[in-house]
Amino acid sequence: IRYSDQAGWHDAHITARAPLPIDPASSVLHYAQEIFEGMKAYRLADGGTALFRPQANAARFRDSARRMAMAELPDDLFIESIERLVAADSDWIPEGDGALYLRPFMIASEVFLGVKPSAEYIYMVIASSVGAYWKGGVRAITVWVSRDHTRAALGGTGAAKCGGNYAASLIAQKQAIAHGCDQVVFLDAVERRWVEELGGMNLFFVFADGSLQTPPLTGTILPGITRDSLLTLARDAGLTVREEPYAIDQWRADAQSGRLVEAFACGTAAVVTPVGRIADRDGDFTIGDGTGGPVTDRLHQSLVAIQRGTAPDPHGWLHRL
Ligand code: PMP
Repeated sequence: IRYSDQAGWHDAHITARAPLPIDPASSVLHYAQEIFEGMKAYRLADGGTALFRPQANAARFRDSARRMAMAELPDDLFIESIERLVAADSDWIPEGDGALYLRPFMIASEVFLGVKPSAEYIYMVIASSVGAYWKGGVRAITVWVSRDHTRAALGGTGAAKCGGNYAASLIAQKQAIAHGCDQVVFLDAVERRWVEELGGMNLFFVFADGSLQTPPLTGTILPGITRDSLLTLARDAGLTVREEPYAIDQWRADAQSGRLVEAFACGTAAVVTPVGRIADRDGDFTIGDGTGGPVTDRLHQSLVAIQRGTAPDPHGWLHRL
């Protein structure tokens, strides 16, 4: 779908994937006005297909657009674009643990070299089949704490899903891999003390008293839809949940004292992944036996059961197609 200040949203159509002709002076190539979403269409247990909370992706896409001074795609156009693309590609939704991954995104397409918001945008969605995230079962990940780089500052773009955030985080992810870890943990930009999130997942902590904690949405972390869903499921299950800052030194002390018994990361791609081991400047540490635990498992299973239509959906999260 195209947008221009004059014509509004227009030219919606579905085509086979092909290279996009783009003028070298398109503003996205210079000033990175670009936002995206990540979501999945699932094959349900009864043979139907569904999206999970697409309204939440539509709302976050609008929030990202506003932060990046871009045109805001109306929610109904966002949802309709996904519905029509999934219908056209329904043969590509795999059976079993796979899904059709959907990548809505929008770029600034005005041909203009001055620094100002573009007057034209192109919104597109890519569909691509994905298999199970973990082949052969869920595995705990190891994470590396970045002390040199932060992902987002207060007043910055951390809460928006814009390409620039990921461009800035790649070096830290590369360092995490070089240290033999799967993922990077970002700390806050002011005190370099408060745990924020991973490169592409939010974090939760599970304590020996059965309570859960996750960093609050202060504008520097991405408001994950999986995070929000797990908060609801945990409260439904009667667990005490705190959205409160958690310091890296506290994380280490709590893991060592046994007060912290599990930690997990969550996002659309992997849903829930145990965090087993942390590599850090001030010493490495392991959580529990390093493989996850029952609260992580239970929350994972209850969310997957709703997404796959094998459990009731009390919050109306499934959007059947
Ligand atoms: N944080 C970041 C930085 C991410 O890229 C993602 C993936 N979109 C998440 C958290 C998890 O968000 P969601 O649960 O909506 O996939």
